Amino acid sequence: MKKRTVRQLSDDELRDKRVLVRADLNVPLDDHCEVTDDTRIRASIPTLRYLLERGARPIVLSHLGRPKGKPDPKYSLQPVAKRLGELMGMKVGFVETTDTDEAMKCSNSISTGEVLVLENTRFLGGEETNDPRLGRALSALGDVFVNDAFGAAHRAHASTAGVCEYIRPAVAGLLMERELDYLGRALASPAHPFVSILGGSKISGKIDVIAQLLPKVDAMLIGGAMACTFFRAMGLETGTSLVEEDRIGMARELLDSAGTRIILPHDALVAPSVERPDVAHAVARNAIPAGEAMLDIGPRTAESYSRAIAAAKTVIWNGPMGVFETPPFDKGTLAIAHAMAEVTKRGAVTIVGGGDSAAAVAQAGLADSVSHVSTGGGASLEFLEGKALPGVEALDDGEAE
Ligand code: ADP
Ligand code: MG
Repeated sequence: MKKRTVRQLSDDELRDKRVLVRADLNVPLDDHCEVTDDTRIRASIPTLRYLLERGARPIVLSHLGRPKGKPDPKYSLQPVAKRLGELMGMKVGFVETTDTDEAMKCSNSISTGEVLVLENTRFLGGEETNDPRLGRALSALGDVFVNDAFGAAHRAHASTAGVCEYIRPAVAGLLMERELDYLGRALASPAHPFVSILGGSKISGKIDVIAQLLPKVDAMLIGGAMACTFFRAMGLETGTSLVEEDRIGMARELLDSAGTRIILPHDALVAPSVERPDVAHAVARNAIPAGEAMLDIGPRTAESYSRAIAAAKTVIWNGPMGVFETPPFDKGTLAIAHAMAEVTKRGAVTIVGGGDSAAAVAQAGLADSVSHVSTGGGASLEFLEGKALPGVEALDDGEAE
């Protein structure tokens, strides 16, 4: 069921209204509480501007980090509110509390044209337990609820799902809508050939994604350490590579059932360890030396995967091809990012999901060259697994457009 979005609210439903916006401003901070990556802050701006243009009064809720249900200055949203103000070129107010009388007063006194950010929702004990009392208290801060926090939608928390019990309308923001559209369309009606690329360190976290995507895709290209668990299932030696011994049987079953759709690397970039990039070298997949680990896909694989991507109409990528944090083990991942950018120019729909994969694409400077980079790591994985997201389910159902 499609969800109602902020674009389906009438101007009367927004003008002068206090609009409670659940955003995902969960950004990394350094030791001095400076924002080190403002991608998620930027991504929240279109919805806020949309609301301001219609004379609404946005009041923003978000979590940040894992403060365990009590205030912790390390995780204050204050620096985030400041950066949001700089990026929007306007004054953004900040209130140090969320559900208290002070927040209530501030939410009532905010005037049209202002944005107010409230303190970290995870400073409140009832947030992660989805305490109905907190959901109700939060709902009192607004007249309308907009959930734009796709990255937090897989959690049934007070500020994502619980609050919706007490406030209507409750609709999706522009970012949430975009995320659901891209991922939803790719799963429901992908243009073929549909190619997925899966990598990362562990097969165990991605089994459900593999199971969900495998019947839909024309090819599933495997990279990352995950490939080594498949190699072992084929009877190959993998040296000191990261292998999940207890998943080898499952990998074998997947290979048996998938036919030729699961594609594994032909070659590997190996080294004694990540600390020895100077002696990295490529070997065939059946020649991984006993004392060395596969730390990236090899050059031949990068080339053949790039060709498969070039022929695709829909591409979903989750999980880096190697230890991309340390060159030269970033080569395979960069090759995939470039192939995605190229095929996007030719009209394919290309989607990147997963925190590390998104970071890799940004590192390559190609975040704007693919169709969509999902801002939600865990949430996009759960969506790709076919699971319902509680933060989305709780919103109003939409009319067909
Ligand atoms: P995402 O966040 O995009 O879902 P994951 O969290 O599943 O991706 O995996 C990312 C991690 O996998 C990275 O830290 C990367 O270094 C690691 N990784 C990728 N390939 C290998 C490999 N061959 N050996 C060890 N670690 C790997
Ligand atoms: Mg990750």
